[in-house]
Amino acid sequence: MFHYDAGLFLTAAQLGVDVRRRQPRCFVSHAHADHIARHQLALATHGTACLYRHRLGPQHRVLEMSYRKPLEFAGLRLTAFPAGHCLGSAMLLADDGQQSLLYTGDFKLGPSATSEPAELPHADILVMESTFGRPHYRLPRRETVVAQLLELVQAALAEGKTPIINAYPLGKSQEVTKLLTQSSVPVLQHQAVFEISRIYQDCGVDLGDFALYDGQPLAGHAVVTLPRSARRFRLPSLGRTVSIAVTGWAMDESTKYRLGVDHALPLSDHADYDQLIETVRRVEPREIFCTHGPAEFADHLRDLGFNAHPLHPAPQRRLF
Ligand SMILES: [Zn+2]
Repeated sequence: MFHYDAGLFLTAAQLGVDVRRRQPRCFVSHAHADHIARHQLALATHGTACLYRHRLGPQHRVLEMSYRKPLEFAGLRLTAFPAGHCLGSAMLLADDGQQSLLYTGDFKLGPSATSEPAELPHADILVMESTFGRPHYRLPRRETVVAQLLELVQAALAEGKTPIINAYPLGKSQEVTKLLTQSSVPVLQHQAVFEISRIYQDCGVDLGDFALYDGQPLAGHAVVTLPRSARRFRLPSLGRTVSIAVTGWAMDESTKYRLGVDHALPLSDHADYDQLIETVRRVEPREIFCTHGPAEFADHLRDLGFNAHPLHPAPQRRLF
């Protein structure tokens, strides 16, 4: 039903799936840089289409898909389901009348302040991302991490310092912005974050009281900017600050030092190890192919009695 040629393809429809090089036609699960390319025709949800065009240019052709609404395409029935990862993020269910395949793209289970929660339909074949596919990566409860974030931000503000949150510009930044603004902490954003936040707003996701950082911190405001690894993360005139990185990789003790921040919190938009296992149990596939994670995840699944393999060559996810 599918083949791998430096990327995943649905064979009958000759449809690429998150392929990183230009294709005649390709499903784009979400608009993070490691999932997009300048395709002749992209298939994507409306949210992803807006972000895709923002990143790659308005001239790109996109066939828009609605969540849960099947599309007949070159002999396949294609349905997008929410993936809970960022605006527009989607899983793809493909059915050829004989068997079905679910491709998860990047996903997480459970609640999110800014994206629809993931839905998991049954499929015969499951192709899943497994970024946190090691038992070590069990994230603390989300409410606990959010409470820690708010505590750190409030403490910084009380000391007259500017809390700086370093986050991916698409997804995590908007999640953090919403979490802060709904707790009455207004947010100033880096230009790159702000542009994407406006797309969220246009797509109906209200992020609350946020504005562009225009070169001066404001009392009582938090600042959301890019990860420190990004060339353009620095903002002028911030004065005394407390920096907080939000990333699932904060499960590793060394993350705070590696990223050069005061605090690192494990707020993730990827499924942790337990959620990955839960996903397999809920989808009940006959066969599983794991990608974007440690090769050993397929071994863990086999130990649990599942018919799992790594999708070769499985790209490893780069740390921020
Ligand atoms: Zn992603």
